[in-house]
Amino acid sequence: MSDVLDLVCELIRRRSVTPDDAGCQALLAARLQRAGFRIEHLRHGDVDNLWAVHGDGGPTLVFLGHTDVVPSGPEASWHSPPFEPVVRLCDLPDRENRNATIHGRTLRLYGRGAADMKGSVAAMAVALEAFVATHPRHAGRVALLLTSDEEGPTNLDGVRKVAEGFRARGEQIDWCVVGEPSAKERLGDLIRVGRRGSLSGALTVRGVQGHVAYPEKALNPIHAFAPALAELAAERWDEGNADFPPTSFQVSNLNAGTGANNVIPGELTALINFRYCTASRADDLRTRTEAILCRHGLDFVLDWNLSGEPFLTPPDGRLRKVVVDVCRELCGVEPAQSTGGGTSDGRFIAPLGAEVVELGPVNASIHKVDECVDVAELERLPDLYRAICERLLTG
Ligand SMILES: [Zn+2]
Repeated sequence: MSDVLDLVCELIRRRSVTPDDAGCQALLAARLQRAGFRIEHLRHGDVDNLWAVHGDGGPTLVFLGHTDVVPSGPEASWHSPPFEPVVRLCDLPDRENRNATIHGRTLRLYGRGAADMKGSVAAMAVALEAFVATHPRHAGRVALLLTSDEEGPTNLDGVRKVAEGFRARGEQIDWCVVGEPSAKERLGDLIRVGRRGSLSGALTVRGVQGHVAYPEKALNPIHAFAPALAELAAERWDEGNADFPPTSFQVSNLNAGTGANNVIPGELTALINFRYCTASRADDLRTRTEAILCRHGLDFVLDWNLSGEPFLTPPDGRLRKVVVDVCRELCGVEPAQSTGGGTSDGRFIAPLGAEVVELGPVNASIHKVDECVDVAELERLPDLYRAICERLLTG
């Protein structure tokens, strides 16, 4: 059994359903401390965060990951228990697959978190141990940042809180590699170089309740809101840019009515969300939305929540170039460079001035029953992370 496979199995056995870390970070901290890293436990509320750093001065390269996992769902639906790691030989749909260890078949590791993202976390730890053992006097600093609150609904006490503390104490981060499972079909075929922002709003439109037979004595908020909604839905918020599609506006919930067909309701509520690109700013989207509502004469309250600013690591950024080269040379593929998908904790690190790139295993099984990772790819992942360290912090 390889070191990385052994470590990921140890992590899967710890039932770290978000936001419980279940001892994962203590295990990793002990290993990295032995390797010469300085350890800080940054616990906020129910959330464990770990900062392990090696070296001094700048530049600083950070590997970012999470030890929490999503719930398994009904354990009986799994072929093997989700928190008991198992390696099984699987038939390959594609016989050409380069990972085939035995004709047409491959080994996969099953367990909750195998791909999202205990596999990456174990690979990062193993890569960092090997890197500092070989290059004890590397340039700058190399660090591992872990949280147990990535998969939860709010992420208040995870990397968001850690980044606030980093900003306050002037912690400099130049490059950040996020281990989120980014690959589509095989390791290295896709990296994420940015993410859209997410801006949500809870809207209440006030009317006046009344009898449907006496509309002159009521004000129907559904009728009042309809033309404003049509305008919001048709609005072209921006044209996007070379790296992002245009900003999109969606209504995810719309409610009004008492259930009776003879009552004009007194209010309407809606939840709205923008997935926005770097061509727009959250402030402008807010202002433009409210201007449309005002133009339609609505009496409304709109509570905004900005859950993440968009970020983009520019094509000429040093980290982006290095990660692309490493995928080409070590995986033999030309990685797609994407800004798609949801959000990740990279959104909290990018505003500190860091270039952020996401590189992890195939994401086909994440959050599903029978989550798994290809063993050959898992065992190659530490080489990729270590090569990134070497290209940025040595020579
Ligand atoms: Zn994840």
